Amino acid sequence: MLPKETVMESKKRIVIVGGVAAGATAAARARRVDAECEIVLVERGPYISYANCGLPYFLSGDIKERSSLLLQTPEGFGAKYGVDVRVNTEVVEVDRTGRRVRLVSADGEVWLGYDKLILAQGGLPIMPVIPGSDWEQVYRLWTVPDMDRLEAALQSGRAKTAVIVGGGFIGIEMAEAFAKRGLRTTVVEMAPALMSMMDAPFGRLVEEELARHGVEVVTGTAVVAIDPATHEAELRNGRRIPADLVLFAVGVRPELELAKQAGLELGATGALAVSASLVTSDPDILAAGDMVEVTHRVHGRKVRVPLAGPANRQGRIAATVAAGLEATYNGVLGTSIVKVMDRTAGSTGLSERAALAAGFDAALAVIHKEHHATYFPGAKEMTLALVYDRATHRLLGAQAFGEAGIESRINTLAVALAAGQTVEQIAELDLVYAPPYSSANDPVNLAAFVAVNDLTGFSPLVTAAALRAELATEEAPLVVDVRSASEWAAGHVAGSRHLPLDEITARASELPRDRRIVVTCRAGYRGHLALRALRGLGFDKVRNLTGGFVSVLQDGGFSVEVSR
Ligand SMILES: Cc1cc2nc3c(=O)[nH]c(=O)nc-3n(C[C@H](O)[C@H](O)[C@H](O)COP(=O)(O)OP(=O)(O)OC[C@H]3O[C@@H](n4cnc5c(N)ncnc54)[C@H](O)[C@@H]3O)c2cc1C
Repeated sequence: MLPKETVMESKKRIVIVGGVAAGATAAARARRVDAECEIVLVERGPYISYANCGLPYFLSGDIKERSSLLLQTPEGFGAKYGVDVRVNTEVVEVDRTGRRVRLVSADGEVWLGYDKLILAQGGLPIMPVIPGSDWEQVYRLWTVPDMDRLEAALQSGRAKTAVIVGGGFIGIEMAEAFAKRGLRTTVVEMAPALMSMMDAPFGRLVEEELARHGVEVVTGTAVVAIDPATHEAELRNGRRIPADLVLFAVGVRPELELAKQAGLELGATGALAVSASLVTSDPDILAAGDMVEVTHRVHGRKVRVPLAGPANRQGRIAATVAAGLEATYNGVLGTSIVKVMDRTAGSTGLSERAALAAGFDAALAVIHKEHHATYFPGAKEMTLALVYDRATHRLLGAQAFGEAGIESRINTLAVALAAGQTVEQIAELDLVYAPPYSSANDPVNLAAFVAVNDLTGFSPLVTAAALRAELATEEAPLVVDVRSASEWAAGHVAGSRHLPLDEITARASELPRDRRIVVTCRAGYRGHLALRALRGLGFDKVRNLTGGFVSVLQDGGFSVEVSR
């Protein structure tokens, strides 16, 4: 909470290291809080406050003007906020005792005193060292000069094939960019699925969408060498993939050289440790953005979340505190979104995997539902998954994938998550509805209904992954598929029994009472009806496969039979 008075009278000097997301925000905020103080913004590169999140979209051709990525010129920013902006200048040393920093630029070297120092140095992309990684056709994408280098390579027309190492946000965005620029592109991801912050089915949906647009995805293996002579990337299994250029997008590590030299404390994750007010172990040095670790709002542990939103908000808070007011940063949820060709993937909080790893008794409800009323033209089905805690019923995270309406659902659930809401509270959220926008039961409400029904035992769920594991055991449940004959014939879980919903009551005697039963349909609703019917007939070991056969296909690990 900020005190009412936001303009202070002082003549202190705040020096900010790093002039992009956290740093530029900090400079502008410091000026708004303290009209008098001296603010020096030091940036190693030639640009400040540029849109690094926009770099892939310039390379894809979606953003036409390079200049539109350069949100502020150093001169314009300096004049607007009364900030002494020094670009092409690096801070190479912090003298904490003397409260000064050493600046190096083409003009030479100078020591600059500070009252408060804000480190907003971000991170550096990880560049694996493997045979051939020093080839000139190996790229990274982090800064405008990186983008210019890649653009020059694309414009030269010499590159026909590309390998992207890493299937996270930047890898996926760049796969789209390369594909749009006509390159035959392969994404290689070491993890079993793309998008490691989401559960595997969502990674596979992303993979399918890339494949639909001609991008090959190889998961569960690594690029171990690059051959500049043959223009190939070699995988661990010996496969060689054509690669006129290679882009590394395997993650970011915090830029900590200066902090380490200054003897500032690092945290459990290896990033810079800061208090809730973003103060480092030195009370006169604050830090914000990709270089710090912060508290995860769901499990309370320290995490690194290198995203622009948190960096900007942290920059704002660090400046507020540096300027002498009180402010606290209450942690991250990791809310994020990525465009994947014609689809969108988004998430907030913990995936089921992360929630289980954090020790929660986590459960998952999955729905596949149109983003607005089905009778209004243009409805697109989305997959929405809620992760919740069986003990407290609290939402732990949400993930969504689809063609439309993803951002509004994830943002809604991010707010619910930040508020610590239970799935019962989310079921009651009063959300917008008119046919072009949503349904009377918004996907958010519906997913919460499903979760509540699971928690109360009204309609217990089993996830596709859990069912797959159970089917491999001796106590495998009987899977009863309640879809129509034609749906069943087109594909069903191997070994399942077909009993259409309309006949479930009449033919219930065919089902065993002493064996666990899992009912399933296309997306979950008819399974729910079947479960309720069987419950009414005294079957008490019935669960509904959450997300139904669509989730079976998204899981990718089931043996599926076709009957015609
Ligand atoms: C291609 C790309 C796409 C992205 N897309 C998204 C997205 O869609 N959504 C999202 O949330 N996030 C996205 N991000 C991540 C987001 O951009 C970062 O999380 C954010 O920029 C971090 O802000 P920061 O201020 O901590 O660090 P940065 O923005 O990296 O800025 C740090 C600056 O500090 C400077 N610096 C470092 N050390 C010194 C020194 N000693 N002296 C002087 N200057 C120094 C660096 O030169 C750098 O300019 C993307 C990042 C990239 C690269």
